[in-house]
Amino acid sequence: MITLFLFMKVDTLIVGFGIAGLNYAEQLRRQNKSFVVLTQDDHSASHIAAGIVNPIVLKRFNPIWKAKEFLDYALPFYSNLEEWLQSQIIHQLPIYRILNDIQEQNNWSIAASRTSLEKYLNQQLIPKDKFPEVSAPFAFGEVTQSARVDIITLLTCYIKKIIPHQFISEKLDYKALIVGEDVEYKNIKARQIVFCEGYQGVKNPYFNYLPLIGSKGEILIIKCEHLTEKVIFKGPIFLSPMGDKTFWVGATFNKMDKTTKLSEKGKEWLIIKLKQFLKLPFQILDHKAQIRATVIDRRPLIGRHPKYDKIYLLNGLGTRGVLMAPLLSKWLFRFITNKEKLPPEADIKRFEKQYFSN
Ligand SMILES: Cc1cc2nc3c(=O)[nH]c(=O)nc-3n(C[C@H](O)[C@H](O)[C@H](O)COP(=O)(O)OP(=O)(O)OC[C@H]3O[C@@H](n4cnc5c(N)ncnc54)[C@H](O)[C@@H]3O)c2cc1C
Repeated sequence: MITLFLFMKVDTLIVGFGIAGLNYAEQLRRQNKSFVVLTQDDHSASHIAAGIVNPIVLKRFNPIWKAKEFLDYALPFYSNLEEWLQSQIIHQLPIYRILNDIQEQNNWSIAASRTSLEKYLNQQLIPKDKFPEVSAPFAFGEVTQSARVDIITLLTCYIKKIIPHQFISEKLDYKALIVGEDVEYKNIKARQIVFCEGYQGVKNPYFNYLPLIGSKGEILIIKCEHLTEKVIFKGPIFLSPMGDKTFWVGATFNKMDKTTKLSEKGKEWLIIKLKQFLKLPFQILDHKAQIRATVIDRRPLIGRHPKYDKIYLLNGLGTRGVLMAPLLSKWLFRFITNKEKLPPEADIKRFEKQYFSN
C-alpha cells in the first residue's frame, strides 16, 4: 500500500476495488497502461458474494443477456489471472438445481435440448438419490459450465502480488477532485478516472442521476461435516462449498432496506430455506450483509459522463458481477482508448436525458 505523499502521474485513476475495479485494473495492466487504485475498505458486495459464475436464469432456465459472450471471455480471463497469481481462484463446480415437480423436470429437459442451451445444461437428469444428504423431490438439473471464483483470495493476492505500489486505502473525497484537461486528486494526476464504486456509487455527485436502485443481500457461512464439496446446490437458495467443510448459504433479496445491518429476520429466513433441502446438521459460523448494485432495467452501467469526458463509470453489475466484469471492462477499455462503441443496452448514454433534465 502507498500513501499520498509522492506526486504521481498515471494513465488512469480507478476508484473502488471490488470485482469491477480489479477487472478494470487487469485490463490496464495487460495493455501496459499505468494506473493507481484508490479504495475505501473491504466492506463490499464483492467481499460477501459467493462468486458463482452461472450463465443461466435458474428460475426459468433461460440464458442471461449475452451469456455466451460473457462466459467465453470470463473463464479464460480468470484462468490466466490464476496463473499470474500462482493461487487457485477458480473452482470448476457444477450447479445442481433441485427440480421441484414434474413440470419443472419437463421444462428442464426441453430447455437442455435447445441449441442455445445444450452447452450449459446437462440433458441427462441427475437422480434424486445421488446425494442422500440433500432432499430433492424429483431429479436434479445440472448446469455444467459453472464455477466459483474465490473473490477474496483474488482481491487479496492481486493487491499483494500485482499492485502493492499502486494501491491506496482511502475514501475518495469528491470535493478534492479537479477535472480539467486531466483529472487531479491530491498528488495524483491522471488522464482519466474510472469509478467502480458498486452500490456506494449512489453518493457519487457525478453519477447520482443514474437509477442504481440497490438490493440488500444477507448470507450465512456454515460448517457442515458430511456434505459433498463437489457441487453447488440450488434449491430455494444457493448452498456453495467454500473449502474446509464450510459453505456459503444465500441469499436474501431486499430492495427496501439500503443498510448493511444484519437482521434476525434475514437470518431466520435463510435457516428455514436451508433446512428445506439440507438434511444434515450444521453450525453457523458467520452472518453478513451487503447491497448489490442493481439497476432499474437490469443492465450494467458503463460509459462516459455526459459532460466530463475524463470521467468514466463501471457499475451496475447486479447479481452477476463475477461473470460480467471481465468483458464489461474490456468493452470500457476499448471505448476509452480506441473509441469503440459500447453495447447500447449497457451504455449509460441510455440515461442521458435524466442527466440533462436534472
Ligand atoms: C449476498 C450477495 C451475493 C452475491 N453473489 C454473487 C455471486 O455468487 N456471483 C456473482 O457474480 N455476483 C454475486 N453478487 C453480486 C456481486 O457481489 C456484485 O455484482 C459485484 O461484487 C459488484 O462489484 P463492484 O466492484 O461493482 O462493487 P463492490 O463489490 O461493492 O466494490 C466497490 C468498492 O468500491 C469502494 N468504494 C466505493 N465508493 C468509494 C469511494 N468514494 N472512494 C473509495 N472507495 C470507494 C467500496 O468500498 C468497495 O470496496 C452477490 C452480491 C451479494 C450482495
